[in-house]
Amino acid sequence: MQICPVCLAKDNFRFIKQYCKYNLYHCQGCDVIFSEPMENPGRVWYEARAFRPLKNPLFRVNWYHRKFLQDKGFYGPRLLDVGCGIGFFLSEAAKKGYVVYGVDFNRRFTKIAREFYGIENIFEKDIDEFFQDFKGEKFDIITIFEVLEHLSKPLAFIQQIKSVLKPRGYIVISIPNRNFIFYDNEINYPPHHLTAWNIDCMQRFLERNGFEVIVWETQKFDYQDLANALTLKFKLGLGRCLAKAGLELNNESSLEIASLLWGIKYKIFLGISFILTIFLVPFSLEGSTLYFFCQVERVK
Ligand SMILES: [Zn+2]
Repeated sequence: MQICPVCLAKDNFRFIKQYCKYNLYHCQGCDVIFSEPMENPGRVWYEARAFRPLKNPLFRVNWYHRKFLQDKGFYGPRLLDVGCGIGFFLSEAAKKGYVVYGVDFNRRFTKIAREFYGIENIFEKDIDEFFQDFKGEKFDIITIFEVLEHLSKPLAFIQQIKSVLKPRGYIVISIPNRNFIFYDNEINYPPHHLTAWNIDCMQRFLERNGFEVIVWETQKFDYQDLANALTLKFKLGLGRCLAKAGLELNNESSLEIASLLWGIKYKIFLGISFILTIFLVPFSLEGSTLYFFCQVERVK
């Protein structure tokens, strides 16, 4: 029997389509699209797809990072970034005065966070382990960029997040926007992404779970957004092969070449997208990502 992973409804689902071994359903109650089965493929699967070289990890600041980093307010001091990746965002947040903590289960990423960006408080755990083991002081703010859509239990996750926040603490969430015109891409399907959201269903989810949504925003469609989508969509497989070999043989040079190839591919698509966007701008399309800044509700 299916259960909606977001509102726990047991029926009122509309079948959308089959994707590999997964069925996708739309929950009419809470408006989320979810996969059946809801199975996160785990650490090994993700590690085999992550190919940041240790010495030159190349990171582009995303729209949602910029939005938070450019916010003049200070909501700290203790900031936790869940799914912190290589730790670039944490190093920028530390420059703004936050005492930063990060959790990620990818061992290559946490190594880069420690050794390249010098982040000391890194938990190399999956999210469930982290919540089980965490006994420290609570956090003032938790950032959750591009994480929720990967999780098999988004409802339990948001409740756990609340349990490690101080009263009236803050969360910042970014998540792919399923209304983005180029959303139809394998990375947005299971097993990579298990749920699909739009701005209204995420807002309702946060409010139902005791958060006051202070800022909600859809990224504006632009050429960088399009270049990103095209880079992810069109694959020759060369970079992936090099990266796979590099990871298996622990050969950093192949990973650096793979990373360089990816950078070149992105630049080519950037040029193409710049031209394409001239024709797409008049349609005022939604961009790829949603952003939410929320505070734990006052106890009534
Ligand atoms: Zn639901």
